[in-house]
Amino acid sequence: MPPKKLNLHGLPVVKVSRRGANRLKDGHVWVYRSDIAQADGVAPGALVGVVDEREKFLGTALYSSSSQIAIRMISREAVKDLDSLLRTRIQEAIAYRERMVRDTDAYRIVFSEADFLPGLIVDRYNDLLSLQVLTQAMDIEAVRQVIVSELSQRLHPEAIAERVDPRVRELEQLPAQSSGLLQGEKKNTVFAMNGVRFHYDVLGGQKTGAFLDQRENYAAAAQYARGEALDVFCYHGGFALHLAQHCAKVTGVDSSRPALEVADRNAALNGREIEWIEANAFDLLRDYASAGQQYDSIVLDPPAFAKGKSNVETALRGYKELNLRALKMLRPGGILVTCSCSYHVSPAEFLGVVTQAAQDMHRNLRIVENRTQAKDHPILLAVPETAYLKCIVLAVS
Ligand code: SAH
Repeated sequence: MPPKKLNLHGLPVVKVSRRGANRLKDGHVWVYRSDIAQADGVAPGALVGVVDEREKFLGTALYSSSSQIAIRMISREAVKDLDSLLRTRIQEAIAYRERMVRDTDAYRIVFSEADFLPGLIVDRYNDLLSLQVLTQAMDIEAVRQVIVSELSQRLHPEAIAERVDPRVRELEQLPAQSSGLLQGEKKNTVFAMNGVRFHYDVLGGQKTGAFLDQRENYAAAAQYARGEALDVFCYHGGFALHLAQHCAKVTGVDSSRPALEVADRNAALNGREIEWIEANAFDLLRDYASAGQQYDSIVLDPPAFAKGKSNVETALRGYKELNLRALKMLRPGGILVTCSCSYHVSPAEFLGVVTQAAQDMHRNLRIVENRTQAKDHPILLAVPETAYLKCIVLAVS
């Protein structure tokens, strides 16, 4: 059969190897640099037509000249007008949240590949928007302007800020830039989820400022937690404040003093008394466990221990240690909420580690709920990299 006639509307063409083409045919949206057969003279961040080695058209992508992920598909069709595609994609992303998100004015509006807008993340915190650009293509001035204009027309935020991840800009060989407001002047607000209120500083905090991906897990944890509770790696108190709805006493632990200061203001905002402890969680759990301290509910939500495939083993040891200590301190009938946000640790590996910890501690655990990230962080079926968060709720007997 002769290859389909190409009409790429003047787009530069990138040819991918058979392996790259197969990946796309399986529904994935990335092609690695090692699977690029030809990309001569293609500009950083360009919109490109993608063909296989027989010149068969596979779709339109955004090109990066420096990332290991050389192309990220943006459409299976030939794209004539990128501006209008970006606008449509943003509208679709907003419409998806309107259908799926409940009980909050803070949620992720655009989740990169999972919204077919690779390299763009947008979060809403009540009347403020926070945006992150992760690729050369999304950093092009004309592209930024379309994104900001569409977001502001659709959502009418008081301000839009950009939060820069310097490491990502370096990897994409983009000039250094600092975080700041792109539109408007307001920098602080209060947002709510599940009836709990939080302070938000659009240019402060870690990551994009709050851990919106845990929103539905907060509600799940609150549903089962009782008695004396410990929220380990508590950050601004997301779990702790939810647990306080049902628990007699709540303690939050984090190594970051600035995070705990916000957590304390959040407790006051909600009229709650919570004890905050600044400590290294590993040391504190070891000391408390050996001192015979007991709890009815424990949440473990550490930072991503495995940043790449190479340190999965070390990450698993870290998870095991935390879960061991927590199990040692849980009273019979207690609840353990244990999380991992490392994409490189699979759900099966994580469950395996918790199982080993339970065996070592001679505790019987029941899985009450096996959960993942909130629905505003969609998981694209054919793109496993979009699924990263694991959150298991266990009952300890
Ligand atoms: N549970 C939080 C998110 C946790 S993010 C929420 O739902 O919002 C991970 C947190 O772990 C960060 O706040 C970071 O400051 C803290 N952290 C990192 N290493 C730590 C350590 N060794 N001991 C205690 N806290 C640590």
